[in-house]
Amino acid sequence: MIKSIPWNFVKSTSTVFGLSIVAAFGVQALGGNFWASFCLFVTVQYILFSFAGTIIRNYFIQKTLQKELEALEPLSTILECAYCNTSNVMTFLPDQNERAEFDCTSCNKKNLVNIQFVVARITEPVNVNSSTGIPLTDIKDEKE
Ligand SMILES: [Zn+2]
Repeated sequence: MIKSIPWNFVKSTSTVFGLSIVAAFGVQALGGNFWASFCLFVTVQYILFSFAGTIIRNYFIQKTLQKELEALEPLSTILECAYCNTSNVMTFLPDQNERAEFDCTSCNKKNLVNIQFVVARITEPVNVNSSTGIPLTDIKDEKE
């Protein structure tokens, strides 16, 4: 890895200079200034290469971000339409770019979903005597 960096640098630099010399000879053959065109070509190529490098780097950063987002589980929930109260199944993938919204299956209107985070205490499991087999019921139900 460390060895390949200077070699790549030498290779790309010699490519830039080689192409610039060829292009400068072409300009000279057409009656232009050799060194002026040579310097111009070197500069233009370095600018283009640095641009390309930035674009490629951004592309890979974007790809990595995409992979991280894909690793996130999509969230599914049933939500009622804000217009006609029809229940809709809504699947939402956490994404930093998109708003959470769905189209109602009944009225086709677009619903915007506000996502809230709610905190709660962790509930302790209730110890119920398993031998009775009687599930816990609401006190109100027992009275009736
Ligand atoms: Zn609706």
